[in-house]
Amino acid sequence: MSSSQTPASAAGVLSFENARHLVEEHARKVSPATVDTVDLLLALGRILAEEIVADRDFPPFDRATRDGYAVRSEDVSQVPTRLAVIGELKAGRLPDPATYTIAAGQAVAIMTGAPLPPNADAVVMVEHTSLLRQEAANDARYNDAKYNNAEHVEVRRRVAAGDNFVPRGSEARAGQPLLQPGQRLDHSSIAIAASAGKSRVKVFRRPRVAVLSTGDEVVDISTTPGPSEIRNSNSYSLAAQVHTAGGEAVQLPIAPDESRRLRALIEEGLRCDLLLLTGGVSMGKYDLVEQALAELNAEFYFTGAEIQPGRPVVFGSCGADTLVRFASESSSDTRTRVSAPHLQPKKYFFGLPGNPVSTIVTFELFARPMIEALAGMKPQPLTFPRARLKSEIRTKTGLKRFLPAVLSGEFENAEVELARWQGSGDIAALARSNCYVVIPPDRERINAGEWVPILLR
Ligand code: AMP
Ligand code: MG
Repeated sequence: MSSSQTPASAAGVLSFENARHLVEEHARKVSPATVDTVDLLLALGRILAEEIVADRDFPPFDRATRDGYAVRSEDVSQVPTRLAVIGELKAGRLPDPATYTIAAGQAVAIMTGAPLPPNADAVVMVEHTSLLRQEAANDARYNDAKYNNAEHVEVRRRVAAGDNFVPRGSEARAGQPLLQPGQRLDHSSIAIAASAGKSRVKVFRRPRVAVLSTGDEVVDISTTPGPSEIRNSNSYSLAAQVHTAGGEAVQLPIAPDESRRLRALIEEGLRCDLLLLTGGVSMGKYDLVEQALAELNAEFYFTGAEIQPGRPVVFGSCGADTLVRFASESSSDTRTRVSAPHLQPKKYFFGLPGNPVSTIVTFELFARPMIEALAGMKPQPLTFPRARLKSEIRTKTGLKRFLPAVLSGEFENAEVELARWQGSGDIAALARSNCYVVIPPDRERINAGEWVPILLR
């Protein structure tokens, strides 16, 4: 073990916030793998690997945002007034300047989404106008050449220049960036890419994340468990969480509580981009994970966090970091990443406690940001929205708690209360809950009606 490495025994139990920050710090240093080019819809949930720029002005023309009449605002500074309607523009029609240029006293009927005609600087909403029959328009007061043979509209409301249309290029100018590399593509970024004509986009390859469940009592779900055996649910919750975080889960065979086989499987897992272990990180006689990792020269960053569930969570790495050297023989200063010939590249691992709720919660709190970073995303600070507590909570101090809870209520009235559960092994309780209430370590009692932070799931 090199002198820079921290053995498991020396790495400490950190506060939740310090542990999370440490993961984020490491996550900021990892670089994503190669790039795939995929059809736009297949990129949903993936991390963008290219900048997407506006291929033209957004909007590409002065775009009406209301149905009504395109006018010169000065013509409607006194209302009511009457204007001659010289034509109609629907969305998709390009106004030919020869026929659609508005002169004093004229208007063009316009629909939402249509380009404004030349000289118009506002749109009056149709609700504030009345289209006049020819007879009414022929009223002597309007007996003027410019009204002849035209429909007329009475405008009852003034508009100022700029009202009810979006000027060309005001959302984005051609060439301006719309989406940055490192953004996760959700439905709105898919829409933005679509509007810029990107039918295929570059995304980062999903990092391969090894999932290794440990424990003599843990059996594959395809077998019938013996009376003292437990089905391996953790490899499934983790594979699902890995997928939503942007990774590709590689499920390894279940490791027994036996050092050699455990070590061999850990080595196999370390060939992936990240290794997630579950179980075997507590203080029991057969909790061998830390020891097996230490035998593989692991460096430990923390071996516990002051949280419940999930206190024994472990974070560390194996192998050396890639070295950065300057390609001195080249005249350019491009940096070349090279692996030291005798060292494996650095691989991170998390040892997650085996209790199924602990596994799920510690994944969300610690493993997710690392997978997101390996998938090309910039680490995001974790925030907890708040909801009003429905019934009092009493608990012990000392740990930050993430307790299964039910978020209910409607619209602005989000309410939350603890779900009934038997502790961190109670996977069934997760079906009765849809979030976690976050309880700070110094609170013994939280009153009904207080706004409490929650971790959504
Ligand atoms: P451990 O962290 O190994 O002490 O395990 C804590 C508890 O979680 C024990 O009751 C285990 O049986 C259970 N457990 C461990 N691994 C799994 C798994 N992969 N799936 C479901 N339960 C597990
Ligand atoms: Mg175990």
